[in-house]
Amino acid sequence: MARDPRYDILFEPVKIGPVTARNRFYQVPHCNGMGHRHPRSLAAMRGVKAEGGWAVVSTEEVEIHHSGDISPYLEGRLWDDGDIAPLALMAEAVHAHGSLAAIELAQNAGGEAANRYSRVAPLAPSDGVIDGRDPVSVRGMDKTDIANFRRWHRKAALRAKQAGFDIVYVYAGHDLTLLQRFISRRHNRRTDDYGGTLENRARLLREVIEDTKEVAGDRCAVAVRLAVEELLGTDGIEHQGEGHDVVAMLAEVPDLWDVNLSAWRNDSVTARFSEEGYQEQYISFVKKLTTKPVVGVGRYTSPDSMVRAIKSGIMDMIGAARPSIADPFLPAKIEEGRPEDIRECIGCNICISGDNQMVPIRCTQNPTMGEEWRRGWHPERIAVARTKERVLIVGAGPAGLEAARALGERGHDVALADAAREPGGRVSLESRLPGLATWARVRDWRLTQIGKLGHVKLYPESPMQADDVLAFGAQRVLIATGSRWRADGIGRTHHKPVPGLEQHKTLTPDDILEGRASPANVAAGPIVVFDDDHYYMGGVLAELYARAGHATVLVTPAAEASQWTHMIIEQEHIQCRLLELGVVIRPHRQLARRTADRLEVACVFTGRTEEIACGTLINVTSRRPVDDLFNSLIERKADWSAAGIVAVTRIGDAEAPGTIAAAVYSGHRYARELGETIDPDTVPFRRERIDLSGAAGT
Ligand code: ADP
Ligand code: SF4
Repeated sequence: MARDPRYDILFEPVKIGPVTARNRFYQVPHCNGMGHRHPRSLAAMRGVKAEGGWAVVSTEEVEIHHSGDISPYLEGRLWDDGDIAPLALMAEAVHAHGSLAAIELAQNAGGEAANRYSRVAPLAPSDGVIDGRDPVSVRGMDKTDIANFRRWHRKAALRAKQAGFDIVYVYAGHDLTLLQRFISRRHNRRTDDYGGTLENRARLLREVIEDTKEVAGDRCAVAVRLAVEELLGTDGIEHQGEGHDVVAMLAEVPDLWDVNLSAWRNDSVTARFSEEGYQEQYISFVKKLTTKPVVGVGRYTSPDSMVRAIKSGIMDMIGAARPSIADPFLPAKIEEGRPEDIRECIGCNICISGDNQMVPIRCTQNPTMGEEWRRGWHPERIAVARTKERVLIVGAGPAGLEAARALGERGHDVALADAAREPGGRVSLESRLPGLATWARVRDWRLTQIGKLGHVKLYPESPMQADDVLAFGAQRVLIATGSRWRADGIGRTHHKPVPGLEQHKTLTPDDILEGRASPANVAAGPIVVFDDDHYYMGGVLAELYARAGHATVLVTPAAEASQWTHMIIEQEHIQCRLLELGVVIRPHRQLARRTADRLEVACVFTGRTEEIACGTLINVTSRRPVDDLFNSLIERKADWSAAGIVAVTRIGDAEAPGTIAAAVYSGHRYARELGETIDPDTVPFRRERIDLSGAAGT
């Protein structure tokens, strides 16, 4: 199909200094938990983005020197010539599909760069401590340090050019890098010509842009990534203040401006706390000050929003990290006139958890993300099955839907049965919670794709029991029946039922999601949410009840609300929202006993107990798999062959309750592996091993 002419503007080439991007789709730098440790995986992942039509594909931050070492995080590394070859792999993979490769050179300062591996003193504009918890101080740089840093950056730019990159970044963003910290009044307390006035504080940025142009500008464009707003009021860089003034001062110096919010949690905001295009109000001034191309981000997944952002003069190129992770083929799908096929990012930030946990990136919507090299998975291609089989899937949640879609793509005959009228399982239910509407995209994209496959049939309102399954006539049975929240308090902290929970009404998230209890018909307050799960559910239910006007208390054994959400850079937003809504947060507390109208809670350290008023207790502790159907089929194994059944397998939450991403992945993996011989003793993916064959390490 031809592309809609309304979207033609998105496919115009853009000149960036000495290079030209073939369209306006720009994959901005993003971390991925691969970095210097997994170069082949990285190259394959970035190559797929280029194949999918992103005209510019960038690295993550790439450390230029061992004095800005953010170990154990796995970012890029260009400390010396030995680091050129691994990065060149990525540039080649991007070039193979006609795109430009960009590299984000970074010298970290403060932030998380405690130099845990290199063990030298971290450098910063002024003396201070690093932001993380390590007992590590930073050393204020003297003039020699500044000269050294400029030389390191020049050397890194030369190496980047040698590695084949087309765009070299000078990075002053995310409240991490030396260059932003020089600009920042908060971090720069110098009294020399690099401190004081804004012109002085921006001097190093100007010098480094000029240095980079001098050494690499003949062949490479020089881009600046600048934080123009920190949301810290007058303490920080403001888009109507110094953010504006830095751009005005250096307007024509770089070849491209890539502008965004700082810190990272304000840049990659989850969908719960931001809408598509949320950065426009902060960055729209930039294009008025410069003739150079401007890149902005804002979780754009709709081509109409992209066209609007360009036509209204906010940006020249649509920057994307997450939308390009969820769908590396987003540009190609618009180009081919099938925007309904775009697998839209849901803004859950599970991708960021990979980086924060130092393992390769994963994505809720795109189960192939991070698996391009190690498993050879491609987001748009899946092998047609050698033998067509008839598969019955019970449960149309994320796991069942993805298995049905991918099995259908492979050519299998699929029946997908669900007891509910509405498919989607947990994502349909949870998408009704405050801020989680985008969760429904997990369901909707899969239903759209399944709708195009005649041989995948959906059976709603079809509760299945063992007899129904045996009578169905399928060769393979896939149990994707999900999980249920426990009501007895068992979870991370409590390993046996909590006294009193059985006698006195206790709600679980399922009671609320399935309409048996709702904020409107709560009999008695106050509401107490006990959160021993630490992901979003406890916090979002506290939000739901507080919004409905109930006195709400969140009790948790952790130090903060929704503590795991630090991994998805959402925790501070959640804690702030709960406090703003008047939720009382009681950290470091576990349950001791429940009575009719009270709850006894105990300090997790001392065991000392206290009573709090509790009308309704909502337990968010842990889930158990819905495995009754699976177990009864296993019990009736003797009947399988007469019923034509070869195998019964469970996937997703029915196997082990986890994230939505894990459920989607599990369904996808099943579909890929059907018909393959899987040896349980063999590692099912390739690994990047350290090569011991050459000389001793350099
Ligand atoms: P997952 O996250 O693993 O995909 P979900 O909990 O989202 O799991 O989805 C499970 C789905 O399975 C729900 O839609 C539920 O209605 C359905 N289901 C559970 N048990 C049965 C059953 N015996 N027959 C049919 N559908 C079932
Ligand atoms: Fe978007 Fe979530 Fe995928 Fe990240 S993990 S790209 S936020 S859908």
